[in-house]
Amino acid sequence: MALEKSLILLKPDAVQRRLCGEIITRLENKGLKLIAMKMLQVTKELAAQHYEEHVEKPFYPMLEEFITSGPVVAIVVEGPEAVSVVRGMMGKTNGRESAPGTIRGDFGLSRQVNLIHGSDGPEAALREIGIYFQAEEVLSYKSSLDEWVCASD
Ligand code: UDP
Repeated sequence: MALEKSLILLKPDAVQRRLCGEIITRLENKGLKLIAMKMLQVTKELAAQHYEEHVEKPFYPMLEEFITSGPVVAIVVEGPEAVSVVRGMMGKTNGRESAPGTIRGDFGLSRQVNLIHGSDGPEAALREIGIYFQAEEVLSYKSSLDEWVCASD
């Protein structure tokens, strides 16, 4: 089991709808460790860096407008296979197609305004963490829960 980091964004709708606490609670209850967190306003430049694979797509102007429309919360979590664990917790891109029990499935009906971003691979995670955080902002610490929630199997 690889210990991975994932970059999570609680998007402007999560902040506006006061759902940050709910979502962070889900991540913590799962056993993921918070190792960096900050609130910020995404600029157009930052959005283009983050979503470089989507910049040329027809939906990008709307995505840019949405992601820059208000503050977001950027988080780095760590845990065994954290990238795929977070992706599973998020649900599908479109809230209408996301299973109940997932974050998008429980709280949204939109394909664009979908509450949360999570890295889609370990390499993407490292790239995205570097966009949002300085190296010294990503912490490393032991937690007495690690042996219980991250036990090898
Ligand atoms: N998005 C959109 N329209 C689309 C596809 C994606 O507005 O047709 C937005 C949506 O907010 C999504 C983000 O672009 O979360 C990134 O798209 P991706 O396909 O990477 O989805 P994700 O990995 O976030 O599920």
